Amino acid sequence: MQFIDLNSQREQLGTRLEVAIKKVLEHGRFILGPEVADFEDALSNYTGAPHVVSCANGTDALVLALRALGVRPGETVVVPSFTFAATAEAVALTGAVPVFADVDEATFNLSADTVRAAIDVAPSAVGVIAVDLFGHPAPYASVREVIGDRWLLADAAQSMGGRAEHSRVGTLAQMTTTSFFPAKPLGCYGDGGAVLTTDGDMAEVVRSLRVHGQGAGKYDSERIGYNSRLDTIQAAVLLLKLELLEDEMRRRQQIAARYGEALSDIVTVPKLRPDTRSAWAQYTVRVEDRDRVAAALADADIPTSVYYPRPLHLQAAYCGYPRASEALEASESLSGDVLSLPMHPYLTEADQQRVIEGVQRLVRK
Ligand SMILES: *Cc1c(COP(=O)(O)O)cnc(C)c1O
Repeated sequence: MQFIDLNSQREQLGTRLEVAIKKVLEHGRFILGPEVADFEDALSNYTGAPHVVSCANGTDALVLALRALGVRPGETVVVPSFTFAATAEAVALTGAVPVFADVDEATFNLSADTVRAAIDVAPSAVGVIAVDLFGHPAPYASVREVIGDRWLLADAAQSMGGRAEHSRVGTLAQMTTTSFFPAKPLGCYGDGGAVLTTDGDMAEVVRSLRVHGQGAGKYDSERIGYNSRLDTIQAAVLLLKLELLEDEMRRRQQIAARYGEALSDIVTVPKLRPDTRSAWAQYTVRVEDRDRVAAALADADIPTSVYYPRPLHLQAAYCGYPRASEALEASESLSGDVLSLPMHPYLTEADQQRVIEGVQRLVRK
């Protein structure tokens, strides 16, 4: 059994993948070739986001979005502590200062309360990055109510295909970023990322930034930018994988429902806000004695992962940055007991049953 099984997904696409890649080899436009714009259009159609600008990876997408939002060195930006390092890293890379907020223990995401607490210690914060952790969209509407005229950026690296408030991920904030790292819900066969926005002017800035800050002419430098493009070959792969995404989302919902029914009495299963569809990048439970359970599952050939074993405010690289309070209790407590179970659209019913029985055997309430 695999934790995330990319081979089964590849089988769904059969020789269409090779044909699509070969086509790129033949036309030879490896950088910003036609597949890149085609994929941006397709993702715009799928999400409903009017503007999609692809780039080299999800971390760059955050940096490009922060730059387009006008973040300047020394400014402060609120981020959750319980997330992948890239969320805070991107802030630091722009010269700005991440301020760590705690998360809501039940949903693993920022909440209006935890954002308010962070803004209380950093009233000059210019914006907030909310993360759709494990695929579950953050509560954008309620966060928006407590941030005044600060901007709100959605880090949707784990949630492409999710929905909330009757809209698709990609349209839940003014700016959204995502990653196409292979293991993400919409992944390619290398690195990739994108910025999605409702704001045409910001989209233009991101388009310029990803090509060295290029202006109207090829050798006009309008701003200091980056070299951050999505490879044409990866765009060709993503065009095919995007076709599978809705069906894969349905499969993930079924697996999550089955896990939830079978396990909710013995471990803490993820809780979704009403009217949301998680992309189920991970199915993460909370369990006492997590390391023992993980080791015993590994012995039974059931792979699991711990996302994330240490919150960012306790990491060497980030512990010097401000935080909402000395201890960020929910983030610290989650790091001690979260365990992610195998989750991918092609997990067979037999394997789902093995995971369920494995957990049932090891954990009793
Ligand atoms: C994966 C991830 C990123 C970074 O994406 P890369 O493509 O790996 O650079 C950023 N934020 C979150 C929450 C992620 O999970």
